[in-house]
Amino acid sequence: MATAAIEEASGKVVIKNIGLLLSGDIDQPILQSDTIVVMDGIITAVGRFKELDTEGAKTTIDVRQTCVAPGLIDSHVHPVFGDWTPRQNQIGWIDSTMNGGVTTMVSAGEVHLPGRPKDIVGLKALAITAQRAFSNFRPGGVKVIAGAPIIEKGMTEHDFEELASAGVTLLGEVGLGSVKAGYEAKEMVAWARKHGIQSTIHTGGPSIPGSGLIDKDVVLEADADVIGHINGGHTSLSEAHVCELCEKSSRAIEIVHNGNERVAIAAAKAALELKCPHRVILGTDGPAGSGVQPLGILRMVALLSSLANIPAELVFCFATGNTARIRNLNCGLIEVGRAADFVFMDRAQHTAGRTLLESVQLGDIPGIGMVMIDGLVRCHRSRNTPPATEIPVIVH
Ligand SMILES: [Zn+2]
Repeated sequence: MATAAIEEASGKVVIKNIGLLLSGDIDQPILQSDTIVVMDGIITAVGRFKELDTEGAKTTIDVRQTCVAPGLIDSHVHPVFGDWTPRQNQIGWIDSTMNGGVTTMVSAGEVHLPGRPKDIVGLKALAITAQRAFSNFRPGGVKVIAGAPIIEKGMTEHDFEELASAGVTLLGEVGLGSVKAGYEAKEMVAWARKHGIQSTIHTGGPSIPGSGLIDKDVVLEADADVIGHINGGHTSLSEAHVCELCEKSSRAIEIVHNGNERVAIAAAKAALELKCPHRVILGTDGPAGSGVQPLGILRMVALLSSLANIPAELVFCFATGNTARIRNLNCGLIEVGRAADFVFMDRAQHTAGRTLLESVQLGDIPGIGMVMIDGLVRCHRSRNTPPATEIPVIVH
């Protein structure tokens, strides 16, 4: 169900009897706490139930010894308007993705808008409109950070200054417009950065007819903040070039569902070998030619944990705290002052794994029992994941 952004405040919420608390922090992925206290959508305390002030809660949730993690962040989506995507003419894809544990999405450009303007005033107007529209309207409660212009030849520093002062914080994938040469992209990325706008570059072969190749030399020269879909979207650079990007650049390594899975595994392994797991972030790149993937982030977590042999608790950080830090979002970590955006999970019924983390390491996705955004329950048992063995209950 689509819901508007402006709603009642959550009041005091106590989340107790947590069996496993994943922090989102790659330096300490598991917390030894069993309770979270929330006030009006913000985490105010994390600790042991007996030591916290849990009196007077408007809502108390008994997690029944299952897992709580920060809401998942999809670092790479292509929204258009509302909860509709013209790419596959699908309605409700964002709400469906919330049922996959995603509480925040970051736009890599509203590129699927039919008749998308490519002149400079038009592309700026679209970005500002998308930014406004998604900050006023949250499908399923999901925070969609949108308004990501596709840069075109002829833009000047003044255009970036104007976008920034209008509230635009992101560039859409560099390379999807007419700016495809490294030297041109580099200048515009630097203007964007100077004015506080974060950039992402398309990496790899053309995504659909009409787009083009961005090779490793262009990625290195442009020096965007995020190496967008380093494993291709869909077509990847060679494994050797992807590993070279991980080594020579210090920018974020974004791995997506809608890319090459073999190279996804290689990129994650390279980041670990280079001792920079904090750079890895996950996205779906949906909606796309491959469709919408409501469980795409969970599927990436299971893929990387099971086939790149990375402990599941670390891979969850790729989809939460790493992305929040790199993208300056006030979510993604279980700590005081952060947004109360959570996904409640348990091992799926009849998985071979004895615990949630073991099940993910064996390649299964977890079952979601509840999703909370800003302290408000957005769904109970997910309609999309396999059923969780245990689910949280609202005790009052
Ligand atoms: Zn792309």
